Amino acid sequence: MHERGRRNYYPVFSFKWAPRYSAERRAKETRTWIEVFSKLASNANDFISACDYDLEGSLIGYCLLKYACDNKHGTAKRMKFSTLTKTELEKAYEKPLPNLDFALIEAGRTRHEVDWLYGVNLSRALTLAAKRWSGRYATLSTGRVQGPTLKFLVGREKEIRSYVPTPYWTIGAEVEIKGSAYEVEYEAKTFEKRVGADTVVEACRAKTGEIETIQVRKLRQKPPVPFDLGKLQTEAYSFFGYTPRRTSNIAQRLYLEALISYPRTSSQKLPPIINYAAILKALSKEASYKKLASELLRKGELKPVEGKKDDPAHPAIYPTGNLPEKELSQQEKRIWDLIVRRFMAVFGEPAIRQSMKVCIGVSGHRFYLRGRRILKEGWTRFYKPYIRAAEALLPTVREGEKVQMKRVVREDKFIKPPPRYNPSSLLQKMEEEGIGTKATRADIIETLYGRGYVAEERIAVTDLGFDIADILSKHCPTVTSVKFTRELEEKMERILTNSEERENVLVEAVNQLKPVLEELKQKEQNIGQVLSTAIKRARIQERIIGNCPSCKTGKLMILYSRKTRKRFIGCTNYFKDLCTTSFPLPQRGTVKPAQKNCRACEWPLLFVRLKGKRPWMLCFNPNCPLKEERRKRDEMQSLREES
Ligand SMILES: [Zn+2]
Ligand SMILES: [Zn+2]
Repeated sequence: MHERGRRNYYPVFSFKWAPRYSAERRAKETRTWIEVFSKLASNANDFISACDYDLEGSLIGYCLLKYACDNKHGTAKRMKFSTLTKTELEKAYEKPLPNLDFALIEAGRTRHEVDWLYGVNLSRALTLAAKRWSGRYATLSTGRVQGPTLKFLVGREKEIRSYVPTPYWTIGAEVEIKGSAYEVEYEAKTFEKRVGADTVVEACRAKTGEIETIQVRKLRQKPPVPFDLGKLQTEAYSFFGYTPRRTSNIAQRLYLEALISYPRTSSQKLPPIINYAAILKALSKEASYKKLASELLRKGELKPVEGKKDDPAHPAIYPTGNLPEKELSQQEKRIWDLIVRRFMAVFGEPAIRQSMKVCIGVSGHRFYLRGRRILKEGWTRFYKPYIRAAEALLPTVREGEKVQMKRVVREDKFIKPPPRYNPSSLLQKMEEEGIGTKATRADIIETLYGRGYVAEERIAVTDLGFDIADILSKHCPTVTSVKFTRELEEKMERILTNSEERENVLVEAVNQLKPVLEELKQKEQNIGQVLSTAIKRARIQERIIGNCPSCKTGKLMILYSRKTRKRFIGCTNYFKDLCTTSFPLPQRGTVKPAQKNCRACEWPLLFVRLKGKRPWMLCFNPNCPLKEERRKRDEMQSLREES
């Protein structure tokens, strides 16, 4: 999509759809593809859209049929499928839907248009304000969902920064039973005053207690629900540390290999039509699943546990039963295994656990000893590598038995500030608040990193991020309003069921944007000044690598020599004539501090990105022990290439 004419101008409310190559110089190659489509189309009689069955896929199919195939969108048919297995594709081809899925197309189109209106106008307002003030160009962006997401992060960051450490006290205690020590909990979890904890320690230290009661409870734990994309992303983050975007990319590859069903789904349901037994039978050909899959097949009736969420286009994520034809990468293997095991687990029996709570009385105070035992593994057998709850076995004890307090101490603690979001918890927050879609959330988080508004895995907002969020919430609060964003999201969702129209949503979006953009324009000078200062600071920050190892007081920075026009690493104390430490740098590509230290020498690492190469970490310590190792390996490599 693009508008006619100038790019350094806003507001823009009129736009048209056009081939990407005509709007973006970087998209030259799309011209050939579209021409191939047109050429093939001119000799074809039947048209069937076989793009992924979702907003994006349907819209792509529609655009190709309309613009590249000379308006065939009216007569084309539509294949509907959730996996790329041969059987399902053949079935979908033989019995296509008679028309394109216009509701999906309209919803997809509206989303693009609304996001374009917001993104282009707001980003231009910020970028131009900064450029007019400083004369320098820097891409600043914000969008419809990016604004509110940044606001969550800023809110949390403010809580953390304004946090005042509040002390509290607890009791740490151990009891000895039959020669072994067991940790016990005091009846009151915390004390607001130190003296309260001291009194308990005084009264119970080295005393003998008596077991007063023993409570045993049985707990039934139902199997987990099938994976929707969000749940898969959360689980992959917690077990493998993969960011949501990485997980969805890996899942996409597995889908293209026909190993799993379409991953961008919000469904937690598995309809019988996917044929559970056939999938399990196919999976049982893989040695590591053989035993488990056969066990389920022997059960007779297969009925999955299902979650509440549904998706009109696709079921929950499930393995197709196909086995990998080529070797999977380690990441692909892990995600596939997670999906396979989750699929098997939803057919499992409930797990039964026993919990035991032993109450020990000591001089009028109470301590609790807790134990856990698994009585029946149930579904956990299928999902075992991805289960954390461990057993805590207790000795056999009886009421009235005397036990010796081994250790009773006061522990001094502070109430912790709320934790920072990580990419996974932020994604969950966006999901809960109903902003963005399953297909876009992970990308929005990456954009916040890419623009330098946030940094690090435990997401911290940068100064630039703070300034952007401040400007937006001061001058255009609707743009960062979660409520407003969610409402717009819901309206677009209703287009899917034909209960809302594209035109209405667009008119509303424009009406919301108009006053916002006017205000931004009026205050352009002020905003430009704030942003320019923030960008300047960010540019300096980006070049600081860490503390100088030789003078200890200066900072190492990426510097440019006016004379030689070369870049190098120098100490900031050089300018005060205090330190002459310097190191050479590669002259090509981009170099950024990696925010990580070398595992061998602990010096800060650099992140080097060179076009056409995989980015790598560079240790600039000339005496780093890893250097020698790497030199030898490179030599081996070049020898191998020569031979
Ligand atoms: Zn120095
Ligand atoms: Zn090193």
